[in-house]
Amino acid sequence: MAGIYLHIPFCKQACHYCNFHFTTSLRYKDDVVKAIVGEIHLRKEEITEPVETIYFGGGTPSLLSLDDCQLILSALRSQFSIVPGAEITLEANPDDITAERLEGWKEAGINRLSIGTQSFFEEELVWMNRAHTAAHAKECIQLSQAAGFDNISIDLIYGSPLLTDAMWQQNVETAIAFGIPHLSCYALTVEEKTPLHKHIATKQKMDVDSDKQARQFLLLMDWLRAAGYEHYEVSNFALPGFRSRHNSSYWKGNAYIGLGPSAHSFNGTERSWNVANNSLYITGISTGMPNRETEVLTPANRFNEHIMISLRTREGLDLDRIEKDWSLNERQQIEKGLQKFCMAGLVTLEDAKARLTDEGMLRADGIAADLFTG
Ligand code: SF4
Repeated sequence: MAGIYLHIPFCKQACHYCNFHFTTSLRYKDDVVKAIVGEIHLRKEEITEPVETIYFGGGTPSLLSLDDCQLILSALRSQFSIVPGAEITLEANPDDITAERLEGWKEAGINRLSIGTQSFFEEELVWMNRAHTAAHAKECIQLSQAAGFDNISIDLIYGSPLLTDAMWQQNVETAIAFGIPHLSCYALTVEEKTPLHKHIATKQKMDVDSDKQARQFLLLMDWLRAAGYEHYEVSNFALPGFRSRHNSSYWKGNAYIGLGPSAHSFNGTERSWNVANNSLYITGISTGMPNRETEVLTPANRFNEHIMISLRTREGLDLDRIEKDWSLNERQQIEKGLQKFCMAGLVTLEDAKARLTDEGMLRADGIAADLFTG
């Protein structure tokens, strides 16, 4: 089974912490949509197996008109074999969600919403320079549920300087009270070249406190577990039956294609990525010469990616699979490498599966990197 990712590189305003590829100018919106449709036709041979998931990400896909959404989806349906019941997710910002749009998205076949809530507190939303208000954050959930969307995910950010533990608890409890079945929760990271980075460097904003971030992540795991959520990937929690099929497919190492500026693709042996520049992207597609770079993964790259991804999931790192897909030597290397993390209570090893403990989750990437080969 394969997946399709679509990158919609437009936003109403720039959130201060964001380093994704986007622009706040809508000048090229129609041209980008046309180019995405063109890319769908150019790349139809790349996926011959049935497509189980489609994901509109960005940027802000909810800035697309309903006609744009329909145009893209009908192009996908005409060129790929989309399975009945495919998961079709649209990332939406709270201020874009209206009853009329929800109806249109449903009619177009969107059956999952991923809402960029981030916080239910006005002061935090202003601090992050989000376009929506605290009122939007709640209203949009009520509207979505009233429109019949039951498969909803919201994003929440923890560890920002304004967020006390009590506020964090209120954010999480609000999501639980709304019956939101999927939460993606991220620690606020200060990426270089973002306004937030500059504001911290010039002392206009307080820096993030890593101890507070760790504490709020540990609290989050306790609260959501108690509320019946499965912690199925470091940053992702779901009520039974509501895991993201699209992201789970990435984590299983399945193939996907990414369409649109800056979108990444993976076919099992190679990774490729479209140019992160809207006009170069449009020119490349319109001339039939996509601006895309490709990297062939070495066996060591594939091994390391597998360690990184699987260790972050609830299923964990399967040592039998390492032996089967690589060799006994690699298995023994991993077993040896895991010993110190097991002793430190960061990893458990049961039935040949290595899984991170709560404390281990805090250091997921560092632990994985320590097990890398090559
Ligand atoms: S809406 Fe999303 S993609 Fe756009 S600036 Fe904010 S965080 Fe970045």
